[in-house]
Amino acid sequence: MSSVSPEALAGGVLTVDTAAIADNWRALAGQLGPGARCAATVKADAYGCGIPATVRALAASGCDTFFVALPAEGIAVREAAPGATIYVLDGLFPGTAPAYAEARLRPVLGSLPELEEWALFCRSRKVRLEAAVHVDTGMNRLGLTEQEAERLAGDRDLLDSFALALVISHLACGAEPGHPLNRQQLERFRTLSGHFPDAVRSLANSAGIFLGADYHFDLVRPGIALYGGKALDSFDNPMRPVARVEARILQLRTVRAGEGVGYGLAQTVRRDTRLAVVAAGYADGLLRRAGGSDDRPGGHGWIVGHRVPVFGRISMDMQALDVTDVPAALLRRGAMVELIGPHVAASELAAVADTIDYEYLTALGRRFHRRYAPLAEVAG
Ligand SMILES: *Cc1c(COP(=O)(O)O)cnc(C)c1O
Repeated sequence: MSSVSPEALAGGVLTVDTAAIADNWRALAGQLGPGARCAATVKADAYGCGIPATVRALAASGCDTFFVALPAEGIAVREAAPGATIYVLDGLFPGTAPAYAEARLRPVLGSLPELEEWALFCRSRKVRLEAAVHVDTGMNRLGLTEQEAERLAGDRDLLDSFALALVISHLACGAEPGHPLNRQQLERFRTLSGHFPDAVRSLANSAGIFLGADYHFDLVRPGIALYGGKALDSFDNPMRPVARVEARILQLRTVRAGEGVGYGLAQTVRRDTRLAVVAAGYADGLLRRAGGSDDRPGGHGWIVGHRVPVFGRISMDMQALDVTDVPAALLRRGAMVELIGPHVAASELAAVADTIDYEYLTALGRRFHRRYAPLAEVAG
């Protein structure tokens, strides 16, 4: 083993604050309508924050129900939370029911073939295993149609072969509170879930929680808000930030007015400019679309009190930041620049890159040195 720390060998550091995730969960749970409980959506490696640490922190705070997309993610959650209830949103993959049973995963069944396969498996094992049913209320992605849901409701044989624990649907336009589809989906969900009176009902993701108590039913399943993300398009995000990406300065250089920077020389220097080239690029999840050009300013980073614009295209492994206005004493080779975190919201970069903060979080690179620590206690 070398005497040099792994952190010193990485281009950047990803800090995840699991106490902030747990705080966000408690804040959401505290604003629910009467009788509603708060689960947690931890798909995509807990939106980039890491399933094991995230699930352990949430379980320790009292969260007992988790939603993942894939069965493999469910198995990872099971290892971190042996007693939890785990739902797999992508449903039942063909031929995999024994693995769900072994890890006590509950598929969210969204089509009649999936329902048949789960029922057949339960009959063959002579045990009524729990599952959820997804009913589509207007998104046209996953879930039973209205007719299929009605057919299921009338099919005693099918319903008797497994334990229907939960009925869910998903909002297509929840991020836009004024969108008329929200109310329609709410009404359709009331009707369709009414066919299964013994099942727990769940409609709301993060956005649905902020739409109000009507949308909370028995169980809510926030994802992005737990991770400090912005659930609604237009509001003051009340959640605590939970992740920080810092990248180290590789080089400082001065570029003369009139010269271009980086690939394609996409952005031209207007005044003599001090650039810091830092070791994080699009291969680390810093999306290339947030680069700057002469036509369109890019995103920004932050270094000790100073906002520093991205200058020119973002490369695979690095990007340049304009640090002309930062006191020279703060700038040195090896110093860290915050690229995402308490001072640079992923939603701000996302607006520049024409995307949503979900994409930034779930793309957070695997090359960063990762540490779990309170954000407040990390220098920088
Ligand atoms: C991803 C997902 C969630 C969580 O959504 P957020 O917008 O991140 O809160 C909830 N339900 C379903 C069906 C999902 O796919």
